[in-house]
Amino acid sequence: MRAELITIGDELLYGHVLDTNAAYIGEKIAEAGVDLIYHTTVGDRSELMINAIAQAMNRADIVLTTGGLGPTHDDITKKIVCKYFKRQLVFHEDILKELEKKYSAQGINMPPINQNQALLPQGAKFLENRIGSALGIVIEEHGKTLVAMPGVPTEMRLMVDEQLIPMLKKKTPDQVIIHRKLRTIGIVESAIFEKVKSIVEDKSKIDIAFLPSFRGVDIRLTAKSDDEKKAREAIEVIETRFTEKLGKYIFGFDNDELPDLIGRLLVSRNQTVAVAESCTGGMLGKLFTDIPGSSDYFLGGVIAYSDELKTKILSVPAITIERHGAVSAETAKHMAEGARKLTGASIGISLTGIAGPDGGTEEKPVGLTYIGLATPDGVKAKDFHYGKQRKRNRQRAAFSALDMIRRYLKSIE
Ligand code: ATP
Repeated sequence: MRAELITIGDELLYGHVLDTNAAYIGEKIAEAGVDLIYHTTVGDRSELMINAIAQAMNRADIVLTTGGLGPTHDDITKKIVCKYFKRQLVFHEDILKELEKKYSAQGINMPPINQNQALLPQGAKFLENRIGSALGIVIEEHGKTLVAMPGVPTEMRLMVDEQLIPMLKKKTPDQVIIHRKLRTIGIVESAIFEKVKSIVEDKSKIDIAFLPSFRGVDIRLTAKSDDEKKAREAIEVIETRFTEKLGKYIFGFDNDELPDLIGRLLVSRNQTVAVAESCTGGMLGKLFTDIPGSSDYFLGGVIAYSDELKTKILSVPAITIERHGAVSAETAKHMAEGARKLTGASIGISLTGIAGPDGGTEEKPVGLTYIGLATPDGVKAKDFHYGKQRKRNRQRAAFSALDMIRRYLKSIE
């Protein structure tokens, strides 16, 4: 079954509102075994809306819309739907009564304009709106279905979860779509591709997508089938092949996050950590402390941005900075060791780099970052080479630092 989504609203086109409805619906309906083939965004203009609906109804079996169902002048979805299906709006006394009840339960007299909400296209079914006033509309004609839902994300989500998905599942009883995400860090997308080329180019029935971000590259495997067991087995086969090629880079699966994983590893090994941050200015500490219960293993740290503070608090010898520079493997090692000694943590981790956009030289370009790791087994530092964007460089550095801890705790070279 093929579906199309139309998100409606000028505010989406102007970029005033981010189209989160599309992301939500895309994810949810795939889980119901429905293939989303197009997503269109259209402004609040009747002729364009009607065109969008007509095209979508031609291409897909089911067309979903969000937005423009409210009672005000710019909410015209209902009228457009009537025009497209050549139907009249019909007044429903029972819907009005329910609506009035909702308002009076909140101690408010219903504004007269909301009476519009009791109008539905002739022959349409509706989807209840438990937390708002605009009902969803379902029209079935010639084996195709149109479902119009409100734009307010909380209302739309509840409607999707409670009513749309069960309705779609009934229409596609035999279809399952299964996703599996392999989460990697420390390797770029092109290098992953080189390693797994043979698997990707194999004509397997699994869809494979690479999704890079500053956290690393996720590999998403998707299986569609009418047999759930077979789909799961097919995913497992591909997952095993990926793991053989990329094992040490895969830190987790599906919703696993690196900071949580490090936390669990530290607890299981009875170890603690402290940070010494220069270029990241506290971002690594934030990643640790975002996790509830991190006080079990995260002791704290120092933001040592100036050379003076690196020397004073972290005991980096002034001569080291003078000889090698504040951004150097030597300084990073002293910083990590300094954090470890200062706090008594089992692991000290440090970051010093040139985040940019200025401050780079030929020898030390923007993006160069050293991460130091001090542990009971010794001290080391590694250089990382990121790009030119300050924000991204800092984010990537913080995640690389987490990865260095992961590799140490899991004895990965
Ligand atoms: P209601 O009658 O409850 O207002 P509606 O169907 O008329 O619902 P809209 O007026 O189109 O919905 O939008 C209501 C709110 O939801 C607005 O704040 C709008 O910015 C937001 N919204 C609409 N569409 C989307 C979308 N695709 N993604 C995120 N937010 C959206």
